[in-house]
Amino acid sequence: MTLPPEITDSHCHLDFPDFDGERDDIIARANAAGVTRMVTICTKLKNEPSVRAIAEAHRGVFYAAGTHPMSVAEEPMATVEELVALAKHPKFVGLGETGLDYHYTAESAEVQKTSLRLHIEAAQETGLPLIIHSRDA
Ligand SMILES: [Zn+2]
Repeated sequence: MTLPPEITDSHCHLDFPDFDGERDDIIARANAAGVTRMVTICTKLKNEPSVRAIAEAHRGVFYAAGTHPMSVAEEPMATVEELVALAKHPKFVGLGETGLDYHYTAESAEVQKTSLRLHIEAAQETGLPLIIHSRDA
């Protein structure tokens, strides 16, 4: 007997307000379709508590946290210590998303590089993967 494949969605944003009111149904439909694990990714550290809560509420949902390159100019700069502390949660599986995006936000290139470097440092310190967004950079 062949077992059905178990699929992992390695990059989703279940916390986005687009999904308010139907989040549990979306996760249930994904599970029914064979997507047994999902990594929901925080793009602004101020949203980390709500992203973590989604992971805590669903057995197959894990999470990552970081500051997205397109948000980094408007958000407080993360610190390595802050990211490393967040990474201690048992369902925390990656740093990010981070990266470089010069398509719409080239004017923040320097601050994006600073942010990427500290996410890299946190990934090295924790041994967790980096989740990289890269566009026209
Ligand atoms: Zn993303």
